[in-house]
Amino acid sequence: MPTAAGSVAIIGAGMSGLTCGAALAGDGWSVTIFDKGRRPGGRMSTRTPSEEVAFDHGCQYFVAKSDEFAQHVQQWQTAGVVDEWRSPIVRFCRGRWETHSSRPKYVGTPRMQSLCQYLADGLDVRCSVQVDSVYRRDSGWHIETADSEGHVFDLLILAMPPVQSHRLLSGRVSLSDQDWPEDEMRACWTLMAVLSQPAEFSHDAVVFQEHRSLAWAARNNSKPGRPSRECWVVQASSEWSSQHLDLSKDHVRELLTEQFVSSFQGRVSVERATAHRWRYALPAESTRSPATGTRYLPSLRLGICGDWCEGDRVEAAWRSGRNLAIRILQEADSPANHEDAKRPG
Ligand SMILES: Cc1cc2nc3c(=O)[nH]c(=O)nc-3n(C[C@H](O)[C@H](O)[C@H](O)COP(=O)(O)OP(=O)(O)OC[C@H]3O[C@@H](n4cnc5c(N)ncnc54)[C@H](O)[C@@H]3O)c2cc1C
Repeated sequence: MPTAAGSVAIIGAGMSGLTCGAALAGDGWSVTIFDKGRRPGGRMSTRTPSEEVAFDHGCQYFVAKSDEFAQHVQQWQTAGVVDEWRSPIVRFCRGRWETHSSRPKYVGTPRMQSLCQYLADGLDVRCSVQVDSVYRRDSGWHIETADSEGHVFDLLILAMPPVQSHRLLSGRVSLSDQDWPEDEMRACWTLMAVLSQPAEFSHDAVVFQEHRSLAWAARNNSKPGRPSRECWVVQASSEWSSQHLDLSKDHVRELLTEQFVSSFQGRVSVERATAHRWRYALPAESTRSPATGTRYLPSLRLGICGDWCEGDRVEAAWRSGRNLAIRILQEADSPANHEDAKRPG
């Protein structure tokens, strides 16, 4: 039932959508979050093909640059859904291994997606529901889902990569270039490899520099709370991923397995592996303009958030969701704006 504050549909149950939803729900809004994925998490997801292995196949870890985000991370640590991943990240430089970054790194526990599941707790999150189209009438925003159920809300928030938001809005509302700059996302092919025995390699997380295809490899079982079976997540570089975007998963699995084994000079022995394609993994440089910003268009009662609006990565997604909620709450507090916003755009 809509509350006095109004009803809001959020499409996307990743970090940005959940952060925004929780803040609005806390202020009395009736919040419904739709996500096509099976669980909340979005790009902070985990694959668990069996009980003995888990792969954080999207986001690998996150850091807290601002004090405000660090305070939230601390609360999540106290709640037991985040922990520090203490393995140093190394890179091969001038013939030797060097520490890549000494900033504390955090992961969801026992899985990356556990954090988003925790944030979703108590919210009306409808998973496995793809939103096919959205349109606005005097009655509000109409959301059409694959299950053909009709839904009408006072306010709509899109919390997903820009291409996907753009696709949903295309032809429905006209946004200026300023509201909607050309935004691009980089792709990332990811290999999830179960090893037949522990790798004969002392580091848990490696950044590849100037490698022809790989960008990152991490021993997933070195993260806190994971099953102990040796398994690695290997990411291709964005250049390689975009050049090989349309190859089949089996073909990419073969190519990346070969690269993984050769770059570790045979010190890893892969028992089985699968590949996953993230078409929209990380915002491109061009997208990360500080001018981009989280968008709220009161005349349309439309909000747009996501990592790409505030930079990139998890902290940006969180900040974007939080900033959008603050904007909406400020707007709702202003009676003049509230009346204005109710008129169709
Ligand atoms: C391979 C990879 C590695 C990464 N590594 C790191 C890292 O090491 N550190 C870091 O900080 N960040 C990393 N990131 C980025 C980080 O995961 C993101 O910044 C963050 O999770 C983005 O959250 P979001 O809410 O903006 O979007 P998302 O998590 O993408 O959420 C969008 C949601 O919208 C849903 N959706 C889209 N369209 C529809 C529709 N039509 N109907 C219903 N639902 C829909 C999707 O299913 C998804 O769940 C990585 C990402 C990837 C892919």
